[in-house]
Amino acid sequence: MNQAKFGILYVVSTPIGNLSDITLRAIETLKQVDLIAAEDTRHSGILLKNYSITTPLTSYHDFNKQKKGPELIQQILSGRSVALVSDAGTPGISDPGYLLIKLAIENQIQIVPIPGPAAFISALVVSGLPTDKFSFEGFLPNKPQKRRRRLEELAQEKRTLIFYESPYRLLKFLEEVRQILGDRRICVARELTKKFEEIKRGAVSEVLGYFQQGKVKGELIIVVEGKKD
Ligand code: SAM
Repeated sequence: MNQAKFGILYVVSTPIGNLSDITLRAIETLKQVDLIAAEDTRHSGILLKNYSITTPLTSYHDFNKQKKGPELIQQILSGRSVALVSDAGTPGISDPGYLLIKLAIENQIQIVPIPGPAAFISALVVSGLPTDKFSFEGFLPNKPQKRRRRLEELAQEKRTLIFYESPYRLLKFLEEVRQILGDRRICVARELTKKFEEIKRGAVSEVLGYFQQGKVKGELIIVVEGKKD
């Protein structure tokens, strides 16, 4: 149980592109806390400015999380409340938020979620693929052998699969999916909620052919049909 003298860690979801996709409660929380821990303070600064939020910002990202995590925990233990935000969507989903949340739990700090967008949920619901059971896979490992092995492990998975991937690796990723999982139905959801939003559905070979025509840009998610019975 949280002791009243401790602060609270709020895990605040923020937009994945369109700044209007923020909840009233997220705005109130970001205004009311003592400190906001953000992956990229310049990036989150744009959001905060847009909503006239003047709460001090500090960075918490992959390269300083080992040192910064315990510092933030100390601040909360001394009575200050902190809001954790990521560059996009829900902190803790494929970003360093997970570590801070784990550390807060170990220190018996109260954690309050402020729900909102998570990129993979938006991609899944517009994919047209089954949503009743799915497996969120996040980013595959970078190393070719490990990537292959993970896809081989997933080949028998019947649930819909969801991956995050960089635009530079999309074509390679689709080739790997075609080879290892077969020419299944997929959906590539690119730049969701942004100006150049694009949702491309079809067999892997069709979608691959489409993206081979030009340079792939922006942020994207790939939703892949599970193995058929
Ligand atoms: N915490 C985030 C969430 O709640 O989804 C995800 C952070 S992860 C570091 C960033 C990845 O999310 C991107 O590489 C991309 O795969 C996906 N992503 C984030 N915003 C997106 C958007 N607007 N459209 C498509 N994919 C997006």
